[in-house]
Amino acid sequence: MTENVEAIFEKAGAVLKGHFLLTSGLHSPVYWEKFRVLQFPRFTEQLCTMIAQRFAKDNVQVVAGPTTGGVILAHEVARQLGVQSIYAEKEGSERLFRRGFSIESNARVLVVDDVLTTGGSVREVLGAVNKISGKVIGVAVLIDRTNQPPDFGAPFFACHHAATITYTPEKCPLCAAGLPLVKPGSSQQPVK
Ligand SMILES: [Zn+2]
Repeated sequence: MTENVEAIFEKAGAVLKGHFLLTSGLHSPVYWEKFRVLQFPRFTEQLCTMIAQRFAKDNVQVVAGPTTGGVILAHEVARQLGVQSIYAEKEGSERLFRRGFSIESNARVLVVDDVLTTGGSVREVLGAVNKISGKVIGVAVLIDRTNQPPDFGAPFFACHHAATITYTPEKCPLCAAGLPLVKPGSSQQPVK
């Protein structure tokens, strides 16, 4: 039931084809719009079951994620594991746990995120966990878009691997073909 992650994303209309500007500044013909999946609790539940099962025997005490998608995922994985869930918010160049969140010293923390591209937001959560003296016991994402996931210093799990096709703006064939560039997010409007 939970095995075909790509089918869930396809069913939710979350695998967008076109010409997208990624956060990294690179261009890509494919964009995984996780919020088209996360808007359906049933899909979110199925995907989070894969993560919860993978770390079921690791005595997870806290599940932590970055805003915004990570809030939903941390909450659902924590619900399934019967533990606490917290989220880290952007503050300047880093992320911090606000909202009065506190955890036990050396609490066993599972870090979750939606789509892994550069690993930047996961690293920021690792930094935030470190600041409140948590111990990261694993990192899990829905979609790993890297060719080789970075070493986070803890076991890594992805529900699905889908390596990114990316182009630098100068060498982008979609730019050359004159296709409008779209910055995924709130509006889906062409960048220029
Ligand atoms: Zn382009």
